[in-house]
Amino acid sequence: MLKTLLKLSGLLVLLLLIGAVAIGFVLKPKDLPPLVSYDSAARSGVLIQNVSVLDVEAGRLQQDLDVLVAGDKITRIGAAGTLNATDGVAVINGNGQTLVPGFVDAHTHLISLADLPGRVKLPNIERNLESFLYSGVTTIFNAGESDNKIYSFRQRVRDGEIPGPQMFVAGKFITAPDGHPVRVVQLMAPKWIRWYLEPRIAHQAGTPAEARAAVAENQQDGAEFIKVMVATLPGSAKRISPEVLAAVVDEAHKRGLKVVAHIDSTSDALMAGNAGVDHWVHGVYHDRIPDEKIQTLADFKIPMTPSMIVFENTSQLGRGNFKPIPLELETADPEALKRMTAIGDKTKVHQELLDWTDHLRGNRADWDSNTQRLNAAGVTLFVGTDFQPGLFPGPSFHREMALLKKAGLSNKEIIKAATINPARFLSNEQDPPFGVIKTGKQADLVLVKGNPLDDLNALSNITQVIVRGKLLKRHAMPTQ
Ligand SMILES: [Zn+2]
Repeated sequence: MLKTLLKLSGLLVLLLLIGAVAIGFVLKPKDLPPLVSYDSAARSGVLIQNVSVLDVEAGRLQQDLDVLVAGDKITRIGAAGTLNATDGVAVINGNGQTLVPGFVDAHTHLISLADLPGRVKLPNIERNLESFLYSGVTTIFNAGESDNKIYSFRQRVRDGEIPGPQMFVAGKFITAPDGHPVRVVQLMAPKWIRWYLEPRIAHQAGTPAEARAAVAENQQDGAEFIKVMVATLPGSAKRISPEVLAAVVDEAHKRGLKVVAHIDSTSDALMAGNAGVDHWVHGVYHDRIPDEKIQTLADFKIPMTPSMIVFENTSQLGRGNFKPIPLELETADPEALKRMTAIGDKTKVHQELLDWTDHLRGNRADWDSNTQRLNAAGVTLFVGTDFQPGLFPGPSFHREMALLKKAGLSNKEIIKAATINPARFLSNEQDPPFGVIKTGKQADLVLVKGNPLDDLNALSNITQVIVRGKLLKRHAMPTQ
């Protein structure tokens, strides 16, 4: 039960929101200036001159190149000085800079808040989209959303109506009756709102037939992936039965949908692996994976998104140790940041939450070690962040890369985990249409100062972002 509090903060926000809507007490998202806008100077394309291009697969720079973007594609790459700009093409001097593929966040959500629980606010979805782009994230995997409004936002972004990252969406979560996160609602939500939340938060599948119907409904709604809960959060939550899990996987695969499974522990990872899921969402952070199980897990050939930033962030909640990184200062609501940095007063944090964050800090070495040993055993890793209080969409991606570095991954490995690895998974193609810089590929590009192979921090030193061929103007929040 205590273990659950890790996840509860995010859910609590959701509860507050839905509660607010239900009683008609709706606060408009605060009007903040936009973080990005389309640059009209680039109406016919973009030419980046004299730039180093990062080959993510080989892990090396190709120096002194010109890169031309037209429409939504990279149309030409040539030696520096050989490509010319026509009318309406914006020219960018790439000298001393590196062009990298737009980042792919392999686990996030969109209809969420980074602010601390306790504030009745609605998610500002447009601004979340902008915050990803500002930080160079041009593709997101939305790992489950209870609100079908997500599909209209996916469409508006596709149509170019609003700027945003390309979106891949897993629909409504599938879980056991009284499983995660339904059990959380039962324990945490006020009685008067439970009846509203319980049927909406997830599909509760108690039989294979119900599981198949849930998969079918999600696909009909527009889901491209299926998210299933294998973990039991909290401890009193019911675990999905092997028969129901098998039906989810079978039905999804029959329909051409991949299944991603929420896991917390070694036993969750084994159960999901044995059931044939296609992706482990979260790393194993609950316990240290026994050495003899590392190879067993690697043999499943399932990719994993460790999302270490979730546990790092949660373990610091209430400690006053939150120090904003530059990208957070440039993008986040200053009030939300202030609340994060000022939270040091323990008396205002629930004791159970403090107990749990103590536990997380206590086994921090385990999550590092699990990630490091799985990586060494050949498990494909993705950079993904989740989206909950304290995790700011876009900046948290850069925090996660730094944590993977701390866990022992090389810069080359992290860059692949941030680009081509998840691009392959999401597109289902070995030679994916995004996540790499080649002629004919989608023009999702980030220009950074320096060489990220030598210094990973260079990836946060962003000067330009291009999303599906459109050059963006980035507008930092005024300095506080
Ligand atoms: Zn999530």
